[in-house]
Amino acid sequence: MQFRDLQRQYQKLKPDIDQAVGSVLTAGNFISGSQVTELENQLADYVGARHCVTCANGTDALTLALMVWDIGPGDAVFVPDFTFFASGETPAYEGAAPIFVDVEEDSFNLSPASLEEAVIRVRKEGKLTPRVIVAVDLFGQPADYLHIRRIADKYGLLILEDGAQGFGGRIGERKACSFGDISTTSFFPAKPLGCYGDGGAIFTDNDEWAALLRSYCVHGKGSDKYDNVRIGRNSRLDTLQAAVLQIKLKAFQEYELTEVNRIAARYTESLGGTVKTPTVREGFYSSWAQYSVLLKEEAQRDGLQAYLKEKGIPSMVYYPKPMSRQSAFSGRDCVKVDLPVTADLCRRVLALPIHPYLTSEEQDRVIEELLSYCRIRE
Ligand SMILES: *Cc1c(COP(=O)(O)O)cnc(C)c1O
Repeated sequence: MQFRDLQRQYQKLKPDIDQAVGSVLTAGNFISGSQVTELENQLADYVGARHCVTCANGTDALTLALMVWDIGPGDAVFVPDFTFFASGETPAYEGAAPIFVDVEEDSFNLSPASLEEAVIRVRKEGKLTPRVIVAVDLFGQPADYLHIRRIADKYGLLILEDGAQGFGGRIGERKACSFGDISTTSFFPAKPLGCYGDGGAIFTDNDEWAALLRSYCVHGKGSDKYDNVRIGRNSRLDTLQAAVLQIKLKAFQEYELTEVNRIAARYTESLGGTVKTPTVREGFYSSWAQYSVLLKEEAQRDGLQAYLKEKGIPSMVYYPKPMSRQSAFSGRDCVKVDLPVTADLCRRVLALPIHPYLTSEEQDRVIEELLSYCRIRE
């Protein structure tokens, strides 16, 4: 059994993907082929954003957004402590101070209360200028944008939605990657919408920022690639990846997202009495980048993971360490905080196999083995 079975997806989509890849190989338009622009229009339509600018990966997408806003030394960027490293790495790379904020136990997402506390603390200290909130749509569920937007407005902050895991999620009818002033996603193969390598995209309704993004991702180009009006980088989605993503986006919309939600509901129904299953908030819809349960304590979590492994069932710990405890940040002011929910989640969380092609038989085995492990050790 695979944690996320990409080969099965390929077997199902093979005729279309092979044809799409073949047509790029035949045309030889490896960079900036028409598929890239077509995909950007399809993604913008799907998300409900005015602009979509594709780039090389989800980490670059965050970086490019921070470049557009000129984030750097002296700026404070608020980041959840419980997320993938890139969410905090990118502001730090730009020279800004990441300020870690706790998350909520039920949704795993940024806690508005902890966020406001951190903003007030930084303002009071007066050393840094609060600029940006990086709100992460962790494991596929959008963050609490209603409350986060209120805090952003109150203190004059920008929201950068890190939708690397959130593509396809919704709050009401509004889609993930439309909640930030700028929003980003990743097409890393294992994300809800993945390509066959690295890829990313940036979304915004702001015309000026979109134009800057297009410039920054191609060497700070002006009227053309050889007219360079600012220092940028080389961060493009190549045509092969765009061609693959066009096919996968169709499958994602037609059935993958509903399938993965059906599978998640089945886990919740079967496991709910035994472990703490993930909560999807009222009116929210997840794209289930991960299905993460909480065990009672670390020993039970580690024991279950070892037991599942013995039975040939893969599982993952996302994330074993709060970001504030990563040695890359040691010695910085941002780590001198106590964020108890994140610390607790890191000890108890376990992600189970989930993807749209998981069979009922496979899922039954995961459920049976998890239940039998937890029952034996009651
Ligand atoms: C995967 C991920 C990223 C980075 O995306 P890449 O395409 O791997 O660079 C950023 N933030 C979060 C929350 C992620 O899960």
